[in-house]
Amino acid sequence: MPTAYITHPSSLLHEMGPYHPECPDRLHAIGDRLISAGLDVYLRHYTAPTVTHAQLGRVHGAEYLASIEAASPATGLHYLDPDTALNPHTLEAARHAAGALVLATDLVARGECRTAFCAVRPPGHHAERNRAMGFCLYNNVAVGAAHAMAAHGVKRLAIVDFDVHHGNGTEDIFAGDERVLMVSTFQHPLYPYSGTENVSGNMVNIPLAAGSGSDVFRDVVREFWLPALERQRPELIYVSAGFDAHREDPLAGLKLTETDYAWVTREIAAVANKHGRGRIVSTLEGGYALSALGRSVTEHIRELVAA
Ligand SMILES: [Zn+2]
Repeated sequence: MPTAYITHPSSLLHEMGPYHPECPDRLHAIGDRLISAGLDVYLRHYTAPTVTHAQLGRVHGAEYLASIEAASPATGLHYLDPDTALNPHTLEAARHAAGALVLATDLVARGECRTAFCAVRPPGHHAERNRAMGFCLYNNVAVGAAHAMAAHGVKRLAIVDFDVHHGNGTEDIFAGDERVLMVSTFQHPLYPYSGTENVSGNMVNIPLAAGSGSDVFRDVVREFWLPALERQRPELIYVSAGFDAHREDPLAGLKLTETDYAWVTREIAAVANKHGRGRIVSTLEGGYALSALGRSVTEHIRELVAA
């Protein structure tokens, strides 16, 4: 069964200023590398639909959604926090980024694809139920997970978050919801400085000290993630796939390489094959060293294709 690659042209139009690391070139770096690696032709390409208000409303408050729509500028940039801004195209990009997760969920839930990767911007895992922050407006992965439960009857799922920053938004939305297991690693202390107090039993947060590399990462995945995933028996696994824990990334200080992203993807796929008919929906979060990002996503997708 094929792997879906879902994106939308508006993802390239959302920009937050000339020096912002969360930039359109990230998607070019990924697309170029997939082609040069010979992997692009093995993917089934889809254009992301726009998310509906009802799909967003499963994970965000009505007032918050109205405030984001009201913040969309006709020209220039409108800042929601010092790192997070809307240009005139951002709202459309965000709607398609969240819509990509809905389509990905539909494709794997219906058995049309086994795995899916959403190459979209803006990212989502810092977006809380009622707050935009950290380059994120809508929590894309949460929109997908909520759609799986509401529209496809999924009763147990998991969200794996290996971005170098803690996925505070996803935690805010799903803490205490036992249908959803979230397992994550992140550098600590580092933005957003959350995640070290486990707020509920369905959150497995593993903070890593700056300088941690492959051995530490793999040890905690084996010791903490895999047993929790085994207990959850997820019918579907989501991945908040941030690649900013790469040793070349300028925003953080972990020392992973693309080999580690290939390894962890194989571990995730093994769980998915055992409990969820191999179904994995992955979406881009961080990753700001363009060459490392392209290489890392390519190795991640190579394992999704092989899974
Ligand atoms: Zn990040």
